[in-house]
Amino acid sequence: MNVLVINCGSSSLKYQLINSDTEDVLAKGLCERIGIDGRLVYQKAGCDKEITEAAMPTHKEAIQMVLDALVNEKTGAVKSLSEVNAVGHRIVHGGEKFASSVIITDEVLDAVAECNDLAPLHNPANLIGINACKELMPGVPMVAVFDTAFHQTMPQKAYLYGLPYEYYEKYKVRRYGFHGTSHSFVSKEIASFLGMDLDHSKIIVCHLGNGASISAVKDGKCVDTSMGLTPLEGLVMGTRSGDIDPAIMEYIAKKENLDIAGVMNVLNKKSGVEGISGLSSDFRDLVDGMNAGNKRAEAAVEVFCYRVAKYVGAYVAAMNGVDAIAFTAGIGENAGLVREKVCEYLGYLGIAIDKEENAKRGDNVVISTADSKVKVAVIPTNEELAICRETVALVK
Ligand code: ADP
Repeated sequence: MNVLVINCGSSSLKYQLINSDTEDVLAKGLCERIGIDGRLVYQKAGCDKEITEAAMPTHKEAIQMVLDALVNEKTGAVKSLSEVNAVGHRIVHGGEKFASSVIITDEVLDAVAECNDLAPLHNPANLIGINACKELMPGVPMVAVFDTAFHQTMPQKAYLYGLPYEYYEKYKVRRYGFHGTSHSFVSKEIASFLGMDLDHSKIIVCHLGNGASISAVKDGKCVDTSMGLTPLEGLVMGTRSGDIDPAIMEYIAKKENLDIAGVMNVLNKKSGVEGISGLSSDFRDLVDGMNAGNKRAEAAVEVFCYRVAKYVGAYVAAMNGVDAIAFTAGIGENAGLVREKVCEYLGYLGIAIDKEENAKRGDNVVISTADSKVKVAVIPTNEELAICRETVALVK
């Protein structure tokens, strides 16, 4: 069957049409500047990108343009919309209500809306996308795939904060974790790639992109992850601070004369490796800067790698061991230097890296040496394919 995978942001929408039998991407692209002016990027497999500027006052017009492009007589990927058999929607926050993907019903939409407070920028946009698809493709089954669902297996000791318990009861303040679709996909993928029994395994997944998180996956289930109530906690990221002493917030607010929103803006948008380096949030620029002798770029890379290594150590403790470590996402897949630096801290686990293999790019690759006590591999993530698979499993 053909599955349309939709990922709605507040002013953008990414899409892929995937043939679930072959897992080939038939067409993909994105709508940008929704509600501002509007721009559709469309690419049929094997063809060049087409860019169309057109008014997109809401997500409904954006999705209509995507559907028109998919059935376009000349460049369409399918002949008619009847060939789109299901839609899989990425939803950022499922709170404690969703521990797995679900077929979208009116009750599901209400439950997603109840999680809006937990992800005020993302969930409302996700809902707008679903409602637009419902209107434009009536009768086509739709599935919600949540970023938080995979992490719902975490035990209480991992998800409770050291805060008054009533905040958990009244306001649902707890660790949720994000990038769950990726952590789930990559943990399964590394187990099958290495011929491990997922049900008896201890895996650490390092999802290192612009947003970055780590998870500890024991016997196929998440037992801890570094992001928390929001995606701000944990690793040092492109522009996000990750873990800090919470008292820094008051201290900086006073010194810089900022309110809470101002401090949050700094922690989300002006911190991380960009904040440290003053150069860029992009690791390509940081590595270039480092090689050119830029000390702050070097400091940013060192802080980033050290934080990753500390979390790996914590998760080895959480699982009382580790069999395999996966690196994934933009930095994890491409920055060999980061993988090497992180693994240098892990010699105590008997981990050794093969520098030649670590320099390779592309598909799944083992980068640890044959005698390394823990296998380390690069496993490219594919969240759209994961959403497609989840959708098919529920719709079939
Ligand atoms: P997100 O989905 O969170 O935006 P990605 O997983 O796409 O992030 O990762 C984006 C990041 O990957 C970029 O900010 C950049 O730092 C890093 N990246 C991409 N390509 C390379 C590369 N060749 N070398 C080093 N880093 C890279």
